[in-house]
Amino acid sequence: MKRWNGWGDEQTTYPLPDLAKNYLENLLGEGNTRPDASLEEVLKSVPESRLPSIGTISLEPEERLRHACGQSLPDWINLRSGRIPSFPDGVLYPTSDDQIKEAFEIAFSNQLILIPYGGGTSVVRHINPPQSDTPVLTIDLSNLDQLVDFDETSLLATFEAGIRGPHLEQRLNKLGYTLGHFPQSFEFSTLGGWVATRSSGQQSYYYGRIEDLFRGGYLITPQGSIDFPSFPASAAGPDLRHLVLGSEGRYGILSRATVAIKPIPEVEEFYGYFFKEWEAGMLAVRNLAQKEIQLSMVRLSDAQETETTLFLTGRKNLIHWAEFGLEKLGYRQNRSLLIIGVTGDIYRAIRSLKAATHICRKNGGLYTGKFIGRSWRKSRFLVPYLRNSLWDSGYALDTLETAIPWSKVQLVKDKTIEAITSANHNQNERVLVFGHLSHVYPTGASIYITYIFRRSYDPDENIHRWHEMKSAASKAIIDHGGTISHQHGVGRDHARYLENEKGKIGINLLSKIGQFFDPEELLNRGVMFEDQSKN
Ligand SMILES: Cc1cc2nc3c(=O)[nH]c(=O)nc-3n(C[C@H](O)[C@H](O)[C@H](O)COP(=O)(O)OP(=O)(O)OC[C@H]3O[C@@H](n4cnc5c(N)ncnc54)[C@H](O)[C@@H]3O)c2cc1C
Repeated sequence: MKRWNGWGDEQTTYPLPDLAKNYLENLLGEGNTRPDASLEEVLKSVPESRLPSIGTISLEPEERLRHACGQSLPDWINLRSGRIPSFPDGVLYPTSDDQIKEAFEIAFSNQLILIPYGGGTSVVRHINPPQSDTPVLTIDLSNLDQLVDFDETSLLATFEAGIRGPHLEQRLNKLGYTLGHFPQSFEFSTLGGWVATRSSGQQSYYYGRIEDLFRGGYLITPQGSIDFPSFPASAAGPDLRHLVLGSEGRYGILSRATVAIKPIPEVEEFYGYFFKEWEAGMLAVRNLAQKEIQLSMVRLSDAQETETTLFLTGRKNLIHWAEFGLEKLGYRQNRSLLIIGVTGDIYRAIRSLKAATHICRKNGGLYTGKFIGRSWRKSRFLVPYLRNSLWDSGYALDTLETAIPWSKVQLVKDKTIEAITSANHNQNERVLVFGHLSHVYPTGASIYITYIFRRSYDPDENIHRWHEMKSAASKAIIDHGGTISHQHGVGRDHARYLENEKGKIGINLLSKIGQFFDPEELLNRGVMFEDQSKN
């Protein structure tokens, strides 16, 4: 079962190794632990539902609690301290398009806010009910999880939108295919959520981002439904499918999506390289992207991330090897780790690895074979579980991201890290900040930043510290021309920054489209753009 107040399945743990704990204690000080609120305590704080009992809508406090928050750091702080600002008044699990349509009618006649809910893995407050006098009904799409159509000739598969990553891959893998969309939240996020947030998987370099994979679907809106056909290409005016991509539940509920699939690749391997410093790694990575070497993943960690990752593994032999073996070869404190993925048929794999190794070596990269890549692969979906054990040891972790043309990558990375580091400087608390290039393109790259700080006993103080760091980083990103999100989306946390990149007219247009599909503003009010009439 999914944890109610943290990441992942209750049965899965990733304990913080002693070496990692000591490392953090040295850098940040001993973690402050305060017992978390228990499920029973938090359930007592769930207020009476404002909804009458209608059909199959669940008014159960536990259902409502489990749909009150996503996975942002403030969500965590609120859940762990038992101070949740708002709950949905009910949760509906539709099993058909007709039930979604009925939900719109119920919402219309009772004037409810509706929140489409996929896997609830949002990290920017997409699915949190607004604090409002209007009752909120969450539409959990998890019962819509079937493979509806499989067109092997065209390499297209249609799924119901509430299907989670592992279930979707299992269905395709049995038929010899894969979608290849692997966000780190893969275990719990859903196809509909990926489309609605313009998600990017770890191997999107080969498989494509979700906007490349999404080929059509069925969108149910309060104004009626649209069936988007899966044309391979079309010159018949603007592509309306782009209204669904990134719509964050504001324009309707996607009940089905057709996606482009690929045969399971013959080869899927990951390889590690070390660079003496980040700048050399970045040059190599830019070359890989601009020479269009056919890789499936390119992930370059800065020196701080390289070191922290090593300690988080807790493996003494690996740390020893890095400290002595790599040092002897001249890869010292500033070393940066690059992991590349090679996917496809054997010929492509050999060619790509050879070309990548040639470029890396030219930039001083040290090829270390499959070992590091394999351990990354083994823990790729386990790493988020570290958030649970870090929290238990007294530390809070948050991540943020952007994308920017190559000419500004270094500047934006430096400015963002500087902004986070100095945001709470008057509190005598240190913060550990590091980053990596998570996705690269010929014209630029996405920068993914992680920051860890010692949490306070006081939840308000934790929210305050997070707010200062997040705001400073967001400001640094937009002031220097980065997008407010490469993959996490807008939600409520980034809504105020959106005008910066869309412009006034752009925001007005997005909002007018919302008013067209949803004149009563029933859907996800306050997410992505500010409300026009009410809240
Ligand atoms: C540990 C962790 C790692 C992550 N790693 C990545 C990553 O590598 N790449 C990445 O892109 N993101 C990542 N994310 C962010 C998050 O997983 C994505 O935004 C994901 O796409 C959300 O999917 P979901 O099904 O959980 O949607 P939810 O969180 O439930 O909803 C997100 C938004 O989509 C809307 N929505 C959901 N389903 C539908 C639907 N069927 N129709 C209409 N609207 C809908 C909701 O209303 C909401 O606005 C990560 C998050 C966590 C916690």
